[in-house]
Amino acid sequence: MTDEDKDNTELIKKAARSILKDEIKHLQLVPSVAIKLLKLTNDDNARIEHLSLIIETEPVLAAKILKQVNSAAYALPNKITSINRAVTMLGFSTVRQLAINLLLYNKLIQRGSKRAFDLLFFWQHCLYVASLSRRIAVALKYPDPDLVYTGGLLHDIGKIVLETYGRVTYSDFIHSMGKSGHSTIEEERRFFGITHTEMGHVFCLEWQLPPSIMAIVAFHHNQPTETSSYAKYKTEIAIVSFANYIAWIQGIGSATHDSHSKLQSAVLETINIDQLDLEALLQQVDQDMKITREFYDIQLPGLTTLRATLVKATINLSQISEDKPFSAVDMSGRKPSSCLTAPHHSLNPDDFIPRTLEAIQDEFCFDRSIMFTIDPKRRCLIASYWWPTSILPTALQPFEIDMSGISGLLLTCLREKKAVIVNTAIERDNPILQRLNTSEFIAVPVLHHNRLSGVLYADNSQSKKPMRESLLPEIMPIAYELGIAMFNAKQYDQQKKHAQIDHLTQLFNKRMLTNFLTEIFQGDESKLTNIAIGFVDIDKFKLFNDTCGHQAGDDALKIVADILRSLTRPGDFIGRYGGEEFLFVLRNTDAKGAYGYAERIRSEIERRGKLMNQRFHGHLLTVSIGVSLYSADYTNYTDMIEAADQAMYQAKEEGRNRIVMLPDVETGNK
Ligand code: GH3
Ligand code: MG
Ligand code: MG
Repeated sequence: MTDEDKDNTELIKKAARSILKDEIKHLQLVPSVAIKLLKLTNDDNARIEHLSLIIETEPVLAAKILKQVNSAAYALPNKITSINRAVTMLGFSTVRQLAINLLLYNKLIQRGSKRAFDLLFFWQHCLYVASLSRRIAVALKYPDPDLVYTGGLLHDIGKIVLETYGRVTYSDFIHSMGKSGHSTIEEERRFFGITHTEMGHVFCLEWQLPPSIMAIVAFHHNQPTETSSYAKYKTEIAIVSFANYIAWIQGIGSATHDSHSKLQSAVLETINIDQLDLEALLQQVDQDMKITREFYDIQLPGLTTLRATLVKATINLSQISEDKPFSAVDMSGRKPSSCLTAPHHSLNPDDFIPRTLEAIQDEFCFDRSIMFTIDPKRRCLIASYWWPTSILPTALQPFEIDMSGISGLLLTCLREKKAVIVNTAIERDNPILQRLNTSEFIAVPVLHHNRLSGVLYADNSQSKKPMRESLLPEIMPIAYELGIAMFNAKQYDQQKKHAQIDHLTQLFNKRMLTNFLTEIFQGDESKLTNIAIGFVDIDKFKLFNDTCGHQAGDDALKIVADILRSLTRPGDFIGRYGGEEFLFVLRNTDAKGAYGYAERIRSEIERRGKLMNQRFHGHLLTVSIGVSLYSADYTNYTDMIEAADQAMYQAKEEGRNRIVMLPDVETGNK
């Protein structure tokens, strides 16, 4: 530890002591066995024996671990009866992580608390950050993903210390939080004299946790200085900070009151976000969370609830900013602006962009403002939103600017990401000035992660009021907030789509299918009578893959999906059930109608397959379809799915490329 670190630490320790009920060393916040596990890092020698020993000396923990490893989630072939064996089967890190999770959960969360600081919500945040941190670490090929998992799990431990042992608690703090406009961290310092990161740091010191974990706990909101002994952990810190940020923008903050989490620029300098497939990561974490949820049997909120939390938080933020200038942005003494909060009013660009343009109009009194978004494929700027709404005459819609033709100052705006004023004095022949019939405009880049996502345009074409240079720094913060909001909206949209849509075929996935059927079966029974469910399974698809290659196999799946989509009526349902199996649900149909639909699908797929004969190396593309028609014997949809499945297998047995219906009724088509 450097001298600077030592001095800081002493000060923080002193501050911590003064606000806690007991001497810190008496804190029984985390059971000592958990502390032992935390110290047992991945590279310890003889680690498996140590781990087993620690767990075995805690009978309750041992029992729980065994129960867990024998649960369905791990799908192990034989029952496991010893911890040692569990460790060998599942691996050191899985078992250690399970044990730590269990200990913390039992000690901290289960006691329950109906206070302002919602422990369950908090726990979910920690699990989410932990799991995402690990996934990010793996994606970045960082050597010790378990470490960032543990760091993620503990990053906000300071909040728990304050809640449990504070003379005034974290709940008291939340109650007291006014709309001051400061970040949670700043507010904590005002209220406790110490932040949750500092309190967490003190906790880690007292328990002598590994310095890497200490670094994450202490610095996930502010990177350590270059001279600090913790500077060497900046990758670990950056990973957890980034995961923490993503958790926030998805509505999984550590407390419902949390204000807008800012992504520190140091994080982006340390980890290369471009290397991450965020969509895939989020999906993996969803899966991790599902297992966790099932294990603890806790109801973690669904997408809508998360969205509501997020909207609530952004509304809080907007109220804050309306009361006082937004702390993160230097408003140079300007009066408070709703322009800065308008972008965060919703997650729908069609809502928040016009709202922001209107707010800009109110505040700056431009004649017109336009938000240009970027179409990356066509490489053009498109006037997507404008205010007042009447300004763009229909003749100008759609108003697009080819990016390859842009020159002069506007090019500077795009390339160097600078706000500019373009006028006829400088660029007489600028085509945009001519096209929009104005002598001057300002253009401000809308960025996220330093990438361009649009351009904010404004002019005074009517009043001819000149644009001041000093306007630019005033508009830039608004463009900055717009950039964040657009990124959030995109993320939300992707996540929502991800939860519903199969990536390859763009059809609904099994989860949506289940929702759809649950809804139908909960509804009016009279509507059920005219329902048909069908399985469509590609014939000999394994052979198809073997003959034509996996890529051609994927293409065939897309072709089948397209055909299904084109032949399905709105109101009916079509989804990918699994691998090469699709499922349809028809409403308002009878046996004849269902058969006709199935036959159209069957014959169209066969026909398209023949057209692709060469690419498919002569392999036919055909499907077998099994259809079940509703009868009162079916008490739930799973029975009906099962019948359709049986029918499909019958179709396979009878020679494939055909349709079988159950019950076997006269369709008039056979
Ligand atoms: P059957 O006519 O009896 O249905 O035979 P089959 O070969 O179609 O059935 P089986 O269940 O044995 O094999 C299904 C194959 O589908 C195996 C798997 O490789 C392939 N498959 C599943 N999902 C995908 C995918 O996303 N892309 C590709 N290319 N192939 C897939
Ligand atoms: Mg935090
Ligand atoms: Mg098949």
